[in-house]
Amino acid sequence: MIILVMNAGSSSLKYQLYNMADESVLAQGRVERIGMDDSILTHEPSGGVEVNRVSEILDHNEAVRKVTAMLTHREHGVLKSMDEIKAVGHRVVHGGESFKQSMLVTNEVKKEIRRLFDLAPLHNPPAMMGITAVELNLPNVPQVVVFDTAFHQTMPMESFLYPIPMVLYRRHKIRRYGFHGTSHNYVSRLAAEKLGKPLSELKIVTCHIGNGASCAAILNGKSFDTSMGLTPLEGLMMGTRSGDLDPAIVPFTMNKEELTLNEVNSMLNKHSGLMAISGISSDMREIVAAMEEGDKHAKLAFDMYTYRLRKYIGAYAAGMNGLDAVVFTAGVGENSVAVRKAVCEQLTFLGIELDDERNAERSKEARYITKDGSRVSVLVVPTNEELLIARDTYEIVNNRDGEDGM
Ligand code: ADP
Repeated sequence: MIILVMNAGSSSLKYQLYNMADESVLAQGRVERIGMDDSILTHEPSGGVEVNRVSEILDHNEAVRKVTAMLTHREHGVLKSMDEIKAVGHRVVHGGESFKQSMLVTNEVKKEIRRLFDLAPLHNPPAMMGITAVELNLPNVPQVVVFDTAFHQTMPMESFLYPIPMVLYRRHKIRRYGFHGTSHNYVSRLAAEKLGKPLSELKIVTCHIGNGASCAAILNGKSFDTSMGLTPLEGLMMGTRSGDLDPAIVPFTMNKEELTLNEVNSMLNKHSGLMAISGISSDMREIVAAMEEGDKHAKLAFDMYTYRLRKYIGAYAAGMNGLDAVVFTAGVGENSVAVRKAVCEQLTFLGIELDDERNAERSKEARYITKDGSRVSVLVVPTNEELLIARDTYEIVNNRDGEDGM
């Protein structure tokens, strides 16, 4: 079965085309600058040459039309006809409390996603535009939505509630939801396989650290706690996001700096984190490079980042009353030897014994970076959110059809 996975942003659309027979990627690409007269479609057939096309793409509908045309293009395409696409899976950021798992798109599901626009005004509307665009361009192809929040719906109340008046939860559903759920789920499963133990018997902390970053406490295979909250701003220090801070800073800063709510919101989301402290970059590669050249601000940013991450791992070990494994994933987690070292070296009290050689290895496979016999194992597990979306889509569409005859 051929499945198209889509991740729609406000002005972008990323896609991957999977052949589920062997889970291989047939092609991938992205449309950027949607809504402009110089939108760019970048398309890469597997094993082929990358193609770039600049043209006016006014909306997501046109973007999907261009993508499907490219997938069936005589020279650069990988399909004979659009009919070969049997299902489309979408990444949707916010599933609120309504969605505890991936769902087949129906009118009710669409209505509910629209109802949740309030909670994720930047993320859910583009996902909906993607769904509508597929309906128009690939009518009758079943669609599945996979939510970033769904995996964390198992969190108990003591993890997900904020200690603020309960009326705010009842009226507006103000609570912690957590994000990157697809990734936390995927890497914890792979880690359990690697550890050779059932997930249902393990206490794992997963650290998804990319541009956005979150930790999750996974107790017996279920999300027990996670660092992001109502929005993806809470928790760890990130590239440009502050993560945890005293909420009183918001009114205090508004008052002292004469800023509006929007300006403070933008400061905390776009001008904080590594970028704000280092004054250099939000990219961990550049922070580490500057630090190695003796830049004091870069070192401070690095130290704050790794210290905050360490505190979360310690807190979650306490929250679960134990720890079997820590998993690093996403851009920083998979690639930064320095971040992993700084975090693990100060967690020896938990029983983590880092192996420097293993930590310095480069590989696309899940692997240990602790010494044999380390009481707590630390693993690097490359994440693959698109594959998990493709798998969920395949399973849901297949079950609906009863058999894999499509
Ligand atoms: P996103 O959160 O946008 O999905 P990724 O998971 O792809 O992001 O992570 C991107 C980030 O990963 C980059 O901004 C960069 O900071 C970091 N990164 C990538 N490669 C390295 C590396 N070799 N060393 C340190 N950090 C890296």
